[in-house]
Amino acid sequence: MIVAKKKPIEEIIDEIKGYQKILIVGCNECVTVCESGGKKEVAVLASALRMYFLNQGKDVKIDEVTLERQCDHEYLEEIRKMIDQFDAVLSLACGVGVQFLAEKYTRTPIYPGVDTSFMGVTQERGIWTERCQGCGQCILARTAGICPVSRCAKRIFNGPCGGSTKGKCEISREIDCAWQLIIDRLKELGRLDDYEQIQPIKDWSTERAGGPRKVVREDVR
Ligand code: SF4
Ligand code: SF4
Repeated sequence: MIVAKKKPIEEIIDEIKGYQKILIVGCNECVTVCESGGKKEVAVLASALRMYFLNQGKDVKIDEVTLERQCDHEYLEEIRKMIDQFDAVLSLACGVGVQFLAEKYTRTPIYPGVDTSFMGVTQERGIWTERCQGCGQCILARTAGICPVSRCAKRIFNGPCGGSTKGKCEISREIDCAWQLIIDRLKELGRLDDYEQIQPIKDWSTERAGGPRKVVREDVR
């Protein structure tokens, strides 16, 4: 899933303080799972903002709605009839949803309510960790299912580097060395011979550093 965290309310207030009618739009997918932009977070934020503006003596209308997804035309259409009633929209979707909303409703200012962080997993309640950077050419088959692109601080493909100590990354002792994890997993799978194979140079042109990417699948068009 895409992991995001709530923006500080001060930052949100700064974004929207000039408007009188604001619609907060949540998303039922990833941001619900990581507890930053689902229906519950929309309700909590809406209450906090109403309270803030009331205390400021300002008459600001805050409404709320949560869509199934904000990265899909079909669901964004659900607010077409209501969006013109608002001066601004605060989207609690990930950056993808915020942009798609802004592309669809060009006359309404759209503001982000969360900081989108990475693609990852729920490690445990309240802790999410990164697993994939969408590099466009998955090499997990060669690395025992552990991604050196997202989990090695130096993104090296023939590790570990000289800084790995007692299984921890030199960047932070709280982070496991991805290459130690890869070696341990290969050992467990009886595939340590694979570790002797030098990994070929990766084609980074498929990665996002090569510019915005597009996936076209003729079979589902
Ligand atoms: S190798 Fe690339 S596609 Fe595969 S998990 Fe890592 S970043 Fe994601
Ligand atoms: S210590 Fe391990 S995870 Fe950290 S940069 Fe070096 S090889 Fe990568």
